[in-house]
Amino acid sequence: MLRLPPFEVAEPTTVAEATRILKERPGARAMAGGTDLLPNMKHEITTPGLVVGLWGIPGLRGVTLDGGHLKIGALSSLHALSEDPLIRAHLPSLAEAVGQIAGPQLRRMGTIGGNVCLDTRCVYINQTYFWRQALGFCLKKDGTVCHVVKGGRRCVAAASNDSAPVLMSLDATLKLESAEGTRIVPIDDFYDSDGVFNQQRRPDELLTEISVPLPKPGTIAAYTKLRTRAAIDFPELGVAVLAERAEGLVERIEVCVTALAARPVRVPLPLEALKGRPLDAALIDQVAAEAYRRCKPLKNIATEPAYRREMVPVFVRRAFRLALARASA
Ligand SMILES: Cc1cc2nc3c(=O)[nH]c(=O)nc-3n(C[C@H](O)[C@H](O)[C@H](O)COP(=O)(O)OP(=O)(O)OC[C@H]3O[C@@H](n4cnc5c(N)ncnc54)[C@H](O)[C@@H]3O)c2cc1C
Ligand code: SF4
Repeated sequence: MLRLPPFEVAEPTTVAEATRILKERPGARAMAGGTDLLPNMKHEITTPGLVVGLWGIPGLRGVTLDGGHLKIGALSSLHALSEDPLIRAHLPSLAEAVGQIAGPQLRRMGTIGGNVCLDTRCVYINQTYFWRQALGFCLKKDGTVCHVVKGGRRCVAAASNDSAPVLMSLDATLKLESAEGTRIVPIDDFYDSDGVFNQQRRPDELLTEISVPLPKPGTIAAYTKLRTRAAIDFPELGVAVLAERAEGLVERIEVCVTALAARPVRVPLPLEALKGRPLDAALIDQVAAEAYRRCKPLKNIATEPAYRREMVPVFVRRAFRLALARASA
């Protein structure tokens, strides 16, 4: 049985108190639902001396409609969001993504803030300390080599959060608060490609709110996920699609993917060649082919990269079909 190493717990009741503690105690870690942090502590991938529990801070849960934006509190549980009437009505692809994370118990504990700030994953790191020591430590923790890219100087552990590609396709912005103040960061700028820590967030900064502009009328969106089992498993590939249409013709199209690299990625698409056309099978095939050309998974998780790459166009097509079916229902 894996045991948690000893650690202290702080239970602040305001964001200001939480960020002050995080600033004063370097190495302390915020904890929301703990569904990722605690397993990582058991594996000694993360070893904070102090855990700053966010659960006692009021005002960080729930969804509100405010000035054309949906504001989502970072402590909202995944389950609550998957059932939330505003999310289901306006952001069905987000409800779809959070409703497929882990399993029912974990979705009741796990939060959207914890999901956005989720640590990257790799077949060589999400193992016990004993296992990792036997193989030899790697760049992400305690070592100097990468077992995925031989000779590699940068960790390529996979971004594995299902909500991230959907929030990217929806142009979400993140509210980050610290003792120094508040900043609003577009989600595209929040992630970077270093798997050791793939976020542009200081250790003393908390994500407190996610803001998503209401999609234009006629927008369709969906999320599809490749995984070994239909529940519990992290994504081996996650695909979020979105299309804005006017009078049935495409005005904008987005494909965002996760689990292939250290950051979720907005796939570059030739928008000028796609605009003004109906969202038919030919156009979807063209987008799927472009996504295949752009996506090159690495051997950072257990499923074969070649198979995951072949699945990219399959899941892009499935996502568009799902979005179209929902729009015509
Ligand atoms: C068996 C199993 C299966 C899983 N399957 C999936 C899956 O399919 N898809 C998926 O995406 N995830 C999955 N997860 C991971 C996890 O359950 C979810 O990502 C969940 O949303 C994490 O939220 P949390 O509140 O529990 O985060 P925590 O564990 O509390 O925190 C996660 C990380 O975020 C930081 N953090 C938390 N909240 C904040 C905040 N407000 N501001 C700044 N930093 C913060 C923590 O310091 C920590 O580094 C799985 C976990 C398990 C154990
Ligand atoms: S990608 Fe390389 S450095 Fe990163 S966790 Fe995996 S083996 Fe370690």
